[in-house]
Amino acid sequence: MNNKNQAPLLSVDEALDFLLRRAQPVEAVEDALTADALGRVLAASQTSRINVPPHDNSAMDGYAVACADLYPAGTTRLRVSQRIPAGKVGISLELGTAARIFAGAPIPPGADAVVMQEDTTPAGDAVIIHRAVPSGTNLRYAGEDIAQGNTVLQAGTRLGPQHLGLAASVGIARLPVYRKLRIATFFTGDELVMPGELLGPGQIYNSNRFTLNGLLRCLGFTAIDLGIVPDNLDATIAVLKQAAPEADVILTSGGVSVGEEDHIKAAVERLGTIDMWRIAMKPGKPLAFGRIDNAAFIGLPGNPVSVFVTFCIFARPFLLRSQGVMNVTPRSYWVEANFDWLMPDRRREFLRARLEPGMDGQSRAAIYPHQGSGVLTSTVWGDGLINCPAGTPIKRGERVRYIPFAELLAWH
Ligand code: AMP
Ligand code: MG
Repeated sequence: MNNKNQAPLLSVDEALDFLLRRAQPVEAVEDALTADALGRVLAASQTSRINVPPHDNSAMDGYAVACADLYPAGTTRLRVSQRIPAGKVGISLELGTAARIFAGAPIPPGADAVVMQEDTTPAGDAVIIHRAVPSGTNLRYAGEDIAQGNTVLQAGTRLGPQHLGLAASVGIARLPVYRKLRIATFFTGDELVMPGELLGPGQIYNSNRFTLNGLLRCLGFTAIDLGIVPDNLDATIAVLKQAAPEADVILTSGGVSVGEEDHIKAAVERLGTIDMWRIAMKPGKPLAFGRIDNAAFIGLPGNPVSVFVTFCIFARPFLLRSQGVMNVTPRSYWVEANFDWLMPDRRREFLRARLEPGMDGQSRAAIYPHQGSGVLTSTVWGDGLINCPAGTPIKRGERVRYIPFAELLAWH
């Protein structure tokens, strides 16, 4: 139903594009110990000051040899002239001898291959080599993994365990990271009470608080949680006044529809600016975006599934980009539909779905039978979303776009 007071429907892509263009990455940079940088976002690309590995070294326990000393067919007996464990440096290989060597130990000058222990038999101060090997066998060359001067980590990367390991492997002890984004949340609704309290007539539990703060924590954010705010203009203005100076982003649920009980728009407008959007998506049509002084404002809808989905599709990329993350697009995959969706909405739909392995071993997407925007059960049953283009029926066996929750709840 479109009446004159309502803005036209915005497509998901238009809304996302609008948001990302307005996400201002935090500027302040902190110096973190590499050990403490997990989950932080790298503020400057890092290059390696060393080669990795730093020297040509053995990939195996065995004997370093000059291949020219080996008989091409049959066995060779060589005196063992030195022993090089990992962490020690040998001397030039004497002509016609072998060096006992262990994995990771530097190759002595004069040797050009390592014969693995399994192809040899020790014989007193000598070793019998059972087969000839070509030059380069079982060698790892200096700089093979990382050459000195290579960029090892890109600015805008959210640092996972593997990034910290790589930084450490080239000797980087401290990393420049963006300061943490400050996010404030609150939840509008006179009907809301907290779990642990008695549910009175007409009341419901504030589940959005748990979903939203959980989503934020999954992405490495911690929110300043301002709790439940009643449905009146003064209370909404008061909490916004409190939140704005403390936060880079204010994130709320509910109160963004057009009823008399919805005060978000008027309250934000009193202090700053706001655009109310009706987005051509299901669930989650109403969404608000605005600004109060230096704080961005995102008003998510109230319905619990709409909160989950609109957070994942809009708030997540906005917040990550505001935190300085470059790659904010969740990966999605083509999968086969194991369902019919014959009455598509005119809006883009994000169906709660899960992959189920078939008898043939191939996984196909099934959808939860109740796709209502209040049915949180669907988000627990599912393991992802099917992104359905507007107005397009889906028949079993067709390919659909699947976004795993793991992509949406994880950092990149
Ligand atoms: P609203 O957008 O405020 O009209 O809310 C839409 C629907 O979501 C209503 O049924 C609300 O009761 C429900 N709702 C709003 N906020 C929450 C919340 N924090 N937790 C659970 N349900 C909510
Ligand atoms: Mg409400």
